[in-house]
Amino acid sequence: MKKLVFATHNQHKIDEIRHLLGSICNVCSLAELNFTEDVPENQTTLEGNALEKARFVYKQFGLPCFADDTGLEIDALGGEPGVFSARYAGEEKKSSENIKKVLDRMCNADKRCARFRCIIALIIEGKEYIFEGITNGEILRYPVGDFGFGYDSIFKADGYDVSFAQMSLTDKSKISHRGRAIEKLAEFLKKEKTVC
Ligand code: IMP
Repeated sequence: MKKLVFATHNQHKIDEIRHLLGSICNVCSLAELNFTEDVPENQTTLEGNALEKARFVYKQFGLPCFADDTGLEIDALGGEPGVFSARYAGEEKKSSENIKKVLDRMCNADKRCARFRCIIALIIEGKEYIFEGITNGEILRYPVGDFGFGYDSIFKADGYDVSFAQMSLTDKSKISHRGRAIEKLAEFLKKEKTVC
């Protein structure tokens, strides 16, 4: 199996992706390539950021690689925090502060529809491919649950009675934006003989 580099330093994501792609691909982390520099993400869209990160890593190593970028898009906030989800309340990227800012801004909102959107950009032999995964749901009025990360405790997917933070990783991955985007990537890779 050839190497497929995942352009992230986030170990949580590497574990999740290996869990889902491990049987079809040899997913390699940046740490395994002894690469410790930050990967730039300076764009104003999820697609732009995912492509920027994948292009950066492809330029460094010339190996097949992919990167992801995710945003929480809330209708009542005109699509915010969107591409700024990680640093919505400041550069410290604190989830508790991000959640507080969302709930404060939505204290009078009755319409609470939102979606997580994940974009994966893949580059193989210079060719670029984009995969998208979406989970629709709503923003709860207060945080519930202890699992997960980010905005999990205030997001409930449509058709479920519990927040993302009350679901096991296995159950969340089946319906999550990232799980859905990875599923599309996996389907593509199974057909793409140059990598797997
Ligand atoms: P990233 O592009 O995957 O790093 O995601 C950007 C930000 O979106 C993260 O810092 C989290 O705040 C949020 N986020 C991404 N995925 C999830 C998720 O599955 N649950 C909750 N929050 C998430």
